[in-house]
Amino acid sequence: MQKSAKTLALFVAVAICLPLAFLPVVGLSVSQQEMQSLYVQRALVTLGYLEDDGGTEFSGFEIEDAIMWFQEEYGLPVTGIVDDDTLTWLFEAEEEFLEEHGAVWIPTKGGKKYHSSSGCSSMIDPRYVSTPEAEELGFTPCKKCY
Ligand SMILES: [Zn+2]
Repeated sequence: MQKSAKTLALFVAVAICLPLAFLPVVGLSVSQQEMQSLYVQRALVTLGYLEDDGGTEFSGFEIEDAIMWFQEEYGLPVTGIVDDDTLTWLFEAEEEFLEEHGAVWIPTKGGKKYHSSSGCSSMIDPRYVSTPEAEELGFTPCKKCY
């Protein structure tokens, strides 16, 4: 009797502590997932699979559709889910697109000029975007680096 009470107490303690121990890990993976999904959305916009209609967030359906379209074009299993393969292809496709169309650095914290170097004009958190996208967003070439 005493022994089983002890076992029960231990069990309860583990049952309470175990989820607590995993909490920070779960929190981290959620934020990583969010970052990944932001990256995925941006790549899909750059590549033209998602249409950026100005500031509004994309619904899960829109993103899933865009991912499925991308997977179909790249001969990947059409699941609508971003797995490692899809992510790798997305990354490569975006890089190729930027190389082909020319890419520039734009500031995310103020400023209306785009730059050829990420270090120009001490930009904070600059973004690497295609030149047409930068121009569409109203950026003009920097006089120092262009
Ligand atoms: Zn510059």
